[in-house]
Amino acid sequence: MRCAVISDIHANLAALDAVLADIGEQAEAIWCLGDIVGYGPDPNECVARLQERGIVSVAGNHDWACLGKLDLADFNLDAREACRWTAEQLSEASRAFLEGLPLSLVFDEWTLVHGSPREPIWEYLTSPGAVLENLPFLQTRLCLVGHTHVPLAFHVPDGETLTCRRRWLLDGDELSLQSGRWILNPGGIGQPRDGDPRAAYLLVDTETLAAEMRRVPYPVETTQRRMLEAGLPANLIQRLSFGW
Ligand code: ZN
Repeated sequence: MRCAVISDIHANLAALDAVLADIGEQAEAIWCLGDIVGYGPDPNECVARLQERGIVSVAGNHDWACLGKLDLADFNLDAREACRWTAEQLSEASRAFLEGLPLSLVFDEWTLVHGSPREPIWEYLTSPGAVLENLPFLQTRLCLVGHTHVPLAFHVPDGETLTCRRRWLLDGDELSLQSGRWILNPGGIGQPRDGDPRAAYLLVDTETLAAEMRRVPYPVETTQRRMLEAGLPANLIQRLSFGW
């Protein structure tokens, strides 16, 4: 099965729609790694898109924070303000959908979490050492994580417990996942943080075990205009132009 892996939509509808158009008929299923809302201007519309397209998702820290399930004191000022705004906007239907999101999902060889296998909501998986520490918490050979908004691949070769290779993923990069253990991060749809403002996602084939990184341009200024109208923090509006 061809599967599109998306993460960290952050209520950026223009970016989500551009990615859904790019996916088109290329994938039979779409898996989402959480942070559907928070930061961006269109939380209800993004939740509705997921429901319309039958996209399965796990919960992210921003989804929980906007539901009041996390203490906002752990967020920086801009994130806190955006969360409060989002909480006011969420419809009953959106709220119910977000409440129903699990912390992790497992499909055959694949585990889906927002942060990491040991800390699904909070941990940022950025270093090979942290990946090695997470392996005992991972029941499958392959794992998909989001949360950092940076596209990355970690590979632990067969028989190794102390070696993990890290690779940044660029547009068009392809991987073969046939041996060893892999943790892949598709980057972010709605707020990329690797210096490339284009929305990021990953295509995986669960039979051939191939993965392909994809970047998609979207009308950033449409999202920025909506954020300005909503009175969301200037920093959050600015950063979308640069992808940081
Ligand atoms: Zn996020």
